[in-house]
Amino acid sequence: MNNERKYQVCTNCVMDTSDSAITFDENGMCDHCQNFYSNIKPNWNTGSLGKSKLDMMVNQIKSDGKGKPYDCIIGISGGIDSSYLLYYAKEVLGLRPYVFSVDTGWNLEVANNNIKKVVNGLGLEVNEELIDWEEMKDLQLAFFKAQVAYQDIPQDHVIFSALYNTAVKYKIKHVLTGGNLSTECIREPIEWVYQNDIKMIRDIHKKYGTSKLKKLPMTSMFKYKIYYRYFKGMKVHRPLDLIPYTKKDALDTLTSKFQYEPYANKHFESIFTRYYEGYWLVKKFGFDKRRAHFSSLILTNQLSREDALNVLANPPYSEAQALEDMKFITNKMNITESEFKELMDGQNKTYNDYKNSSKFIALGVKIAQLLGKEKRQYR
Ligand SMILES: [Zn+2]
Repeated sequence: MNNERKYQVCTNCVMDTSDSAITFDENGMCDHCQNFYSNIKPNWNTGSLGKSKLDMMVNQIKSDGKGKPYDCIIGISGGIDSSYLLYYAKEVLGLRPYVFSVDTGWNLEVANNNIKKVVNGLGLEVNEELIDWEEMKDLQLAFFKAQVAYQDIPQDHVIFSALYNTAVKYKIKHVLTGGNLSTECIREPIEWVYQNDIKMIRDIHKKYGTSKLKKLPMTSMFKYKIYYRYFKGMKVHRPLDLIPYTKKDALDTLTSKFQYEPYANKHFESIFTRYYEGYWLVKKFGFDKRRAHFSSLILTNQLSREDALNVLANPPYSEAQALEDMKFITNKMNITESEFKELMDGQNKTYNDYKNSSKFIALGVKIAQLLGKEKRQYR
């Protein structure tokens, strides 16, 4: 990639040349925006077409779940999307979800409280999977030592694997996710946020880990994309793409019905995520995930470009909070602050420095795009 590139920010959203592969048209509009207007928007139906797809989906889920204790599974993180999805599935769609949550050891009190408020308010019970902390820590430390941008992969991988493994274990065929175009129609470039690639995870752990990973839930892409779906009949649904869904309305509903408490930023439900997104990614790599998130909100008319630029002019969170979080993280992970600072100042790496399945994943995305299941830019 060209590091000498002149700085440029899209005239329509707030994506900029920190996405090194971004291109602009003669009006200064970026290719994410062009893709949104030509591929995503025309195929995104939250009106009567969305409603009829939703009805079909719900009928199928209810009919498959007849006589069983649950008809679907929903993983809840305490964030807005998954909390709203749970409310909508139970109260509006009349589904009977198995509610699943994963504690990787980092959840903030506010996230745990939100989970409790929503689940209790709906008269449901949450099934929490507690992750083996020693193994989680070993994998996360290996990732820091690997000097890659994507420090969210160990937790994400474990959370998704636990969810899918649980669905298969209890023979629950339908997985509902809070993933949605409304707040995520611009996908972060893979140089910022790489995929859940088990080959890379294993290679990084082999190089920098200290113990064997025996208890962590892990699932290869092959297993959950192919084996679980085609041999176990698992179906993954994104109901929020079929209804009019906005962050503000979802938050209003959650606040008024469950006294839900919002967080400062989209994924700030964990101290680790807060530090990684707000500091590691920004200071070490120059990537600010808020750009992709705000751009999604701009394209879906939930935020003005001017307001987004004003917020982006300030760092995601304060130096003082970052320092406090760094102390918390180093203490929890048993490394010294100076060791950690060395990692922060060390040579940046990418997935290409490790064994990886990027070609296989890119092929999978290409197929998903041909089938119309993925319309966002992938690179
Ligand atoms: Zn743009």
